Amino acid sequence: METVLITGASRGIGRETAKLFSKNGFNVVINYNKSEKDALELLSEIKNAAAIRADVSNRKEVFEMVEKANSIFGGIDILVNNAAVAGQMLFQDISEEEWNRIFDTNVKGAFNCTQAVLPNMLNKKSGKIINISSIWGITGASCEVHYSASKAALIGFTKALAKELGPSGITVNCVAPGVINTDMNSSIPKEVMDALKEETPLGKIGSPEDIANTIFFLASKKADFITGQVISPNGGFLI
Ligand code: NAP
Repeated sequence: METVLITGASRGIGRETAKLFSKNGFNVVINYNKSEKDALELLSEIKNAAAIRADVSNRKEVFEMVEKANSIFGGIDILVNNAAVAGQMLFQDISEEEWNRIFDTNVKGAFNCTQAVLPNMLNKKSGKIINISSIWGITGASCEVHYSASKAALIGFTKALAKELGPSGITVNCVAPGVINTDMNSSIPKEVMDALKEETPLGKIGSPEDIANTIFFLASKKADFITGQVISPNGGFLI
């Protein structure tokens, strides 16, 4: 049985992704940071899972989490670097702390988690790493420069690592979702969400399931010849 580690699986896209993998017979490591109640509730709902707390920006906690996961399931086969934080503000108002909060979680988090799971993948000469970027990492979002830059960084990370790890039989891909109905967008005013919906050719906001399905495909054998790619499920918002 293969094992997937999903960072930020307590809520939103990560949570749906955990459910989908579990339903399809994978062992699932539910990583969470602050939302312990949500993570434990998810744990009680799905099979073959473990919930492990770690702040992905904290290298020590990440390595301890992977060590624990390895001792339970015997190695991570699939890593989904999903955990992220966002923020909306004018560029001039971004403090150094705020910049670091975004980059430490969204970019350093992926660096930490990937380095922690790699030894097992390299030993097995197989593995799948899926990084969750955003349409804003491709096209840029006004008043979200730090978030957009962090998500663009994950695209570069994906492409470079795919070249480096291809000869070791490990694929690295990126999912860049459009606007999705999760807590991350809860502070966006309704008029703005309606306008985004209007601008989307398919006429709707995406669901966490839409993104979970794309992640699941990239983790499957059907995607064995795909690496270094950015797939953007976005309803046609960005074509
Ligand atoms: P969400 O509902 O806000 O959930 C974020 C998840 O990340 C939570 O489970 C949270 O866990 C976790 N997290 C945050 N900081 C963490 C840390 N330091 N360590 C470990 N976990 C941490 O967000 P979402 O909408 O599902 O977003 C998931 C991914 O999709 C993100 O990479 C996001 O950038 C991307 N994305 C989202 C959208 C969208 O419209 N929603 C669009 C494009 C891309 P705790 O609550 O336990 O701390």
